[in-house]
Amino acid sequence: MRSLSPPRRTAPTALAVLFVLIAFPQISAAQQQQDADFARMVREWTTRPEFLSPLVDHLAVAPGVPSPKDVLGYHIGAPKKLTYYADILNYYRTLASRSPRVRVVTIGKTDEGRELAVVFIAAEETIRNLDLYRDYLGRLADPRGLSEAEARDLIPRAKPIYHLIGGLHSPETGPPEMLMELAYRLAVEDSALIGQIRDKIIVSITPVAEPDGRDRYVDWYYRHLVDIDDERARIGGPPYWGKYVYHDNNRDIHYSQVSTRALLKWYLEWHPPIMHDIHESVPYLYTFSGQAPQNPTLDPILYGELPWFANFEMAQMTKYGMPGVWTHAFVDMWSPGYLGFMSSNHNGLLRMYEVFGNGGATTMKRKLETASGRPSPQTEREWYRPSPPYKEVEWSIRNNVNYGQTGVLSALQLASAFPEVILDNFYRKSRNSIESGRKDAPHGYVIPAGQRDMTRVELLAGLLRTQGIEVGRAAVEIKVKEGTFPPGSLVVKRDQPYGRLAKIFLEKQEFPDPNLRTYDDTGWTLGLATHTEVREISDSSILDLPVEMVTELKLPGKPAGAPSGPDYAVAHFGSNRMITLRYRLKGAVVRAAEKPFQAGDVEFPAGSFLISAGPPGSAVAGEVRTAVESLGLTGSATAPPPVPLHEVDLPRLAVYSTWGSTQEVGWVRHALDQFEVTYDLVFKERVRQGNLRAAYDVVLIPNQGGSAKRIVYDVEGRDKPLAYNRTEQFRYLGAYGESEDIRGGMGLEGLMELQKFVRDGGVLITLGSASFLPADFGLTRSVNASRPSAQFYAPGPIVEAEILHPDHPIFYGYAGKTVPVRYANGPLLDLPEEEKARRMLMKFPGGDQAVLSGLMKNPGEIKDRPAIIEVPVGKGRVIMYATNPCYRWQTHGEFNMLFNAILHFNDMGAPAGR
Ligand SMILES: [Zn+2]
Repeated sequence: MRSLSPPRRTAPTALAVLFVLIAFPQISAAQQQQDADFARMVREWTTRPEFLSPLVDHLAVAPGVPSPKDVLGYHIGAPKKLTYYADILNYYRTLASRSPRVRVVTIGKTDEGRELAVVFIAAEETIRNLDLYRDYLGRLADPRGLSEAEARDLIPRAKPIYHLIGGLHSPETGPPEMLMELAYRLAVEDSALIGQIRDKIIVSITPVAEPDGRDRYVDWYYRHLVDIDDERARIGGPPYWGKYVYHDNNRDIHYSQVSTRALLKWYLEWHPPIMHDIHESVPYLYTFSGQAPQNPTLDPILYGELPWFANFEMAQMTKYGMPGVWTHAFVDMWSPGYLGFMSSNHNGLLRMYEVFGNGGATTMKRKLETASGRPSPQTEREWYRPSPPYKEVEWSIRNNVNYGQTGVLSALQLASAFPEVILDNFYRKSRNSIESGRKDAPHGYVIPAGQRDMTRVELLAGLLRTQGIEVGRAAVEIKVKEGTFPPGSLVVKRDQPYGRLAKIFLEKQEFPDPNLRTYDDTGWTLGLATHTEVREISDSSILDLPVEMVTELKLPGKPAGAPSGPDYAVAHFGSNRMITLRYRLKGAVVRAAEKPFQAGDVEFPAGSFLISAGPPGSAVAGEVRTAVESLGLTGSATAPPPVPLHEVDLPRLAVYSTWGSTQEVGWVRHALDQFEVTYDLVFKERVRQGNLRAAYDVVLIPNQGGSAKRIVYDVEGRDKPLAYNRTEQFRYLGAYGESEDIRGGMGLEGLMELQKFVRDGGVLITLGSASFLPADFGLTRSVNASRPSAQFYAPGPIVEAEILHPDHPIFYGYAGKTVPVRYANGPLLDLPEEEKARRMLMKFPGGDQAVLSGLMKNPGEIKDRPAIIEVPVGKGRVIMYATNPCYRWQTHGEFNMLFNAILHFNDMGAPAGR
């Protein structure tokens, strides 16, 4: 019973206190002076009495400590009021400056330079000793060397951090507002419940997980959305949130984006046992309980904790009379790639809400129905939805704040009633992870030294290290049941705190039930995705192998000999950094070998660079050697080899983006930026202007829109222009592209310009669903693109593809005849039988044995279908990918199939001649 009892509270008994907290949480708050204006306004803004709870219908007045209204000028949840990020931060900073119970720490900067912060709220004593509590959690997070008795002694002294995240998705505007009020309430309210939360746990807050997107969305809201109160007249959000991606900031399995990476870094220093990510979508409050399919590698305790919290919140809120709180039926526990999973992936507990929202602060009538006009299933009673949402409702942002905050306070109530259980679970999950690595095979993984391209080994080790996974290097030869590996090989042992996570990343994903659907990808196996050799080791002696911990793996390249005139050779072993090298040596003459050749003791594959380095000691020679070495590539001074060569010209590259679907384009932009490729991002405005061939050599249309029509016609017409440009009032619009009116797409006139571009000798590259465009609109007359049948289901598995023209420049650096690629639900490309031999560059062998990781149902449907096609059109060509070689920050092994096409755009010969 000890854990139930709040400290420094003499009477009543522990059980009675709990009873009071549950039944009459507002009672002791009545002693404190309350803000009458707040109570009155909140009642007015809440659209039905049952949408308010006794936890949030009042706000204490604390002399000297500013409420949100004291700083912002309005109460949280005021209609038509959204707060810009700087004002949100300013509120927390002001609160922290006046309350010893609040502290703000900076954890980094966004792409656009905004400060990233975490706000801590707890009892004054706790805040004073925050570092001590951080250290306690660090001990429990890595219990190696901590005895059971020491853990028992530590747990009652430690305090769990309960971390809250709002605003990851920019149109989900309520939670960042709500969290400000919650912070104030936690800091000042005198009630038994809030006192217990302050004393027993530490609450921390990410005010806005995507600050750049927050400001852009608030601008967009005030410019276009604020007066729309008819649900049917609603329009979409701005073309961009953050710099690159939309929702995928919650699918970024490797935390490639700077804001999410900063949060992961903070996580690994502070180890909050619970992370709670608050989103907006389904009515009225959905609390995630970890439904199937569940990743079986994660600790089973986690799957008990999830419904424990969710059911408590549902029961509490239902008791307060709030309808529409439910659980169990939205999102699953399969992919480890969601932002908040940084907690469950690291032996903590992930929590997630969806709260009903209007995409802003405008009150509107919402009908809950399906696209065909029937009542939404979410309004139906189910065992997990005993009090369903209404079929029609007037909804306000204050309702959203009431629901979100009441839910969170209920969760904090539970956490503060059982802090020792939470800490004990956290400790045990961490310990279990280590023990499972000792008990259960595989016991580890070896990433052998001496792989052809060590830059991808470096990448892979870096991705594991980012997640806090320990990677060791063996100084001696490794001899295990699975074979012998050379000295310098990397070893990931499973008997470490994040050994389970290592397994999740490195193992083959076996989806548990093909009849289950999943919310995101089914396959992500790191070795396959990066085309790196990783060996699973079931020989437990691997655990005893001495290794040196790798903190930062930087493998310098192997430049042999001084670059001397005329040539210096750089081997194309498949490194994605070949394109970086080419761009870094912009001014140099770089040629590519079309056949393999030998120089010194290195076999240089086709696609290797021959760089005219000038005389030894010249500036160019020095630059070449430095670039080769720093990029981890292999080079050698050589005489010109006796093989055909072509110049590697840098194309004038345009990347086309619709205004309505910028995310997948964003991932390609991100990869191009990371590898230092220069390009123009162009929109319908530029394409319609025409004369594309005079300005560009290559137009790249990344996967987007889902269909050819969507790419051509894009954002639907409305009665008013939808401007996305910067003005004095709206400073955050117009980033990454500007438009007076984003509606209408390139239209047929834009399409004609693309056709002209290709006919005049340009190269058009289409990735993934963008390949519907040339097929459906007849740019490539003989190619058809269709969709798989309803029986086909491929949520991002990794499958085998067969390279049919290994000497084609697109495959420079690829050594095998078959390669792993990611394939999702389409398109299915096809071309006439007589053209296949010449124009189909890569195909899917299909069949069950070709599914390497994840789920593909009915894999026979892709059997022998083209994966990449090259078609001549006029003087130019179209290269169509059924795959998306640049999918998120994930398909690193495929990036080169795009990079090679960019570098060798004018060196592919006549397609008909192949
Ligand atoms: Zn969301």
